[in-house]
Amino acid sequence: MVSPITCGWLDNARIKLTRRWQSLPHGILLTGPEMIGKSLLAFDLARIMLCETGQNKSGCGICSSCQLVEQSVHPDLHVVTSEASGNLLSAHFVRHAERYWLEKKSTSTRKPSEQISVDSIRALNQNLAATASLGARKVVIFPIADQLNHNAANALLKLLEEPTGDTFIILVTSVAHRLPATIRSRCVHFSVKGPSSSVVATWLQDEKGVAPETAAQFAGAGLGPFIIADLIERGVDGTLLEFLESIQGGNSVFGEFETLKRFFEALGDEFVLEMLQRQFLKQVRKNAGAGVLSVSDKAAMDRFVEIGEVRESLRTTIDSQLALEGMMIRIQS
Ligand SMILES: [Zn+2]
Repeated sequence: MVSPITCGWLDNARIKLTRRWQSLPHGILLTGPEMIGKSLLAFDLARIMLCETGQNKSGCGICSSCQLVEQSVHPDLHVVTSEASGNLLSAHFVRHAERYWLEKKSTSTRKPSEQISVDSIRALNQNLAATASLGARKVVIFPIADQLNHNAANALLKLLEEPTGDTFIILVTSVAHRLPATIRSRCVHFSVKGPSSSVVATWLQDEKGVAPETAAQFAGAGLGPFIIADLIERGVDGTLLEFLESIQGGNSVFGEFETLKRFFEALGDEFVLEMLQRQFLKQVRKNAGAGVLSVSDKAAMDRFVEIGEVRESLRTTIDSQLALEGMMIRIQS
């Protein structure tokens, strides 16, 4: 069973990773650029580790274990994410991940959590200890491992130090420095290269039916292919194009409260803030290289820092909307 989406840029990493899977330690850390499909590799690896025939390519697809993975009900495959990232996961991941969202969305009106809490790790511990495993192995995947909060990371550390039986823990992240050093040091590191922008452009045309000129514009913005694919699937690719054109044509968007608000609503707070931050950084870097920083460069630097603070508060505080609105009011004035 091969992943339904073809991502040629993952092939080399997949071969390297799966060829030596039997010699891998319990903790495996997959790093690389954001939204390039690293978690697909983790899923491939899990499929091989759980396959009853132990074949090295992508699981036999026939044994009961492979069938259960395919139907997203394998009891020994554990996927742990925050609830909020549910919409970023493929169908396979979502169903495996649901059992660690301890308060189900349907029964709660609160905002879904952006973090993985210690309760999820406790539940994982219990499941790993209690589940009568089908075969010999158990696999745990954290598709966005940097979502682990402090206490959850500590609890996971214990698991990495004293793994139960033949358990593999695969941590996936594009920001490995956000994981505690103690966790990183207990994993073998594996870095995955992202595709070039021309590869992304071709992929968008072939897999998503994007027109060549638009595909080149999306790819040229340095975005991970799956971010673009996600925005296309959500029907906001027109807004994405408009947003990219406006930030590439200067920072005029920053003065227009209503336009910015529309971008936030369609494309997501974190995405828009990151892109704006990148744009300001690019401006400052370019001029700093030439040895002159103008008043507007210094203003860009201030904006860069300010957006960074808002992004941090989006990750950590409950009243993140307040921080965002505060920033927008300051921009407007
Ligand atoms: Zn199999």
